Amino acid sequence: MTGKISTGGDVDSFCTRCRLNLAHIVVAMVAGVPVRVKCRTCGSTHRFRGAPSDRPRPVRRESASPRSLRPTPASVVDAAEGPEHSYRMEDSYRPGDVIVHSVFGKGVVQKTLFRKCSILFRDRERILATANT
Ligand SMILES: [Zn+2]
Repeated sequence: MTGKISTGGDVDSFCTRCRLNLAHIVVAMVAGVPVRVKCRTCGSTHRFRGAPSDRPRPVRRESASPRSLRPTPASVVDAAEGPEHSYRMEDSYRPGDVIVHSVFGKGVVQKTLFRKCSILFRDRERILATANT
């Protein structure tokens, strides 16, 4: 991009006749924005369409995400109290049980499923094999 656009200058626009994003000459401008352009390829004059790839995308507000208001897995796990069971896949657990996994560390059982449990660890929730039925 050259930056500043002026009448008689070049601008990329979608050509309605060529059906392509092509170089155009600015014919008319309003408030610094091209409104009519002439296609360098087919010579047709049409409304400025802009370059499809240049359209501004919706801005995501990461910082204002409600996620920051929700408890993080780490805070939930850290707040969990009770006897800590060493995780063994031969054992069965109940929701709320605090377990300690040799790799993932401390976790809290969220849900029991058939032969497995969903366990929340400090980084994220994982499904681990257990003896639950
Ligand atoms: Zn054209």
